[in-house]
Amino acid sequence: MHDSLERIHDEVVVCRACPRLVEWRERVAREKVARFADQEYWGRPVPGWGDPAAAIVILGLAPAAHGGNRTGRIFTGDRSGDFLFASLHRTGFANQPTSVSAEDGLRLRGVYVAAVNRCAPPANKPTPEERDRCLPYLERELALLRDLRVLVALGAIAWDGALRALAALGHVVKPRPRFGHLAEASMGPFALLGCFHPSQQNTFTGKLTTGMLDAVFDRARELAAR
Ligand code: SF4
Repeated sequence: MHDSLERIHDEVVVCRACPRLVEWRERVAREKVARFADQEYWGRPVPGWGDPAAAIVILGLAPAAHGGNRTGRIFTGDRSGDFLFASLHRTGFANQPTSVSAEDGLRLRGVYVAAVNRCAPPANKPTPEERDRCLPYLERELALLRDLRVLVALGAIAWDGALRALAALGHVVKPRPRFGHLAEASMGPFALLGCFHPSQQNTFTGKLTTGMLDAVFDRARELAAR
């Protein structure tokens, strides 16, 4: 049977391959936090989503416990997503600046958003085994996105995951490129672009500003057009 983004989506949302993460995502969904106590949490793996004709993939680490794990859409319903999608709107990749729920009308143009791990991990730290178990979903998505040119890695763990997924697809670069904000590497037909993660830790301290994030997506557009 031919692979497809729809097929990957359907497999991801029922995946229970990592017992520790299944237990955690479901526990968080049951226990909730006070500010979302009246909401029904998704509590399952969060699939990639976006434009099937994307030239740019934006890669995060994993869904946030009370963000993607609550809303069912990656970078949706948390501060990191607010920062990210406001930038994608300013730079012309999104039709609106907010991302609050899976039914909020947000549409992406030319970008697809995914994560190395599809389940929220305790302390935002998947184990290497959990990472390796989940990466084939990303590899399959990358292989199916025919117009893909650029991967934007949000943080060092996403950078590492992108390198691993590209290596699995036969694109290996030595020495291994090092992560940095606006670091670039050529990997076969793809460009890999680093960006500090839009976590509150980075955005509240000014390590990542709106201007810095916008510059990343402007650069991604340039790389995609080459
Ligand atoms: S992290 Fe990935 S492989 Fe592990 S249970 Fe979640 S979706 Fe499945």
